[in-house]
Amino acid sequence: MILLPEQHLLDALTSAGQRLTPQRVAICKLLANSDEHPTAQDLYLEMRPVFPSLSLATIYNTLEVLSKAGAINALGGVGDGTVHYDADISPHVNLACLECHRVIDYPSDHIHHVEAEVQASSGYHLLGARVLYYGVCPDCQAKKKLSTK
Ligand SMILES: [Zn+2]
Repeated sequence: MILLPEQHLLDALTSAGQRLTPQRVAICKLLANSDEHPTAQDLYLEMRPVFPSLSLATIYNTLEVLSKAGAINALGGVGDGTVHYDADISPHVNLACLECHRVIDYPSDHIHHVEAEVQASSGYHLLGARVLYYGVCPDCQAKKKLSTK
């Protein structure tokens, strides 16, 4: 049996008593297959051509249900005042640029060591991780240097 990347998101919706409407399924698919850390607005703009009757509220509701279930991470704002979401809840580092508001994944072995340490010493059964570093990306640093010359 091949598991769809969005399967755990669909399961989370079902467990929360949500019907799997085509719109909700599409939201899960987009989230699970994106490494862009989209905002609700990003999802809305991407889905609108396929689902003309889609409302932003449907997206917000679905994201809230998924976040509450721990199936996705709400990464918070990165200088743009809006929440970015990540469907990858395995331990990894997110790097956010406060200038262009891009969020990228930064794989790190250390983060797995941190998780093992926390799990061993805290007694918690860990379900996921959210690690966000923020700063100014190399592209934006280069742009700043050019503009001050
Ligand atoms: Zn940047």
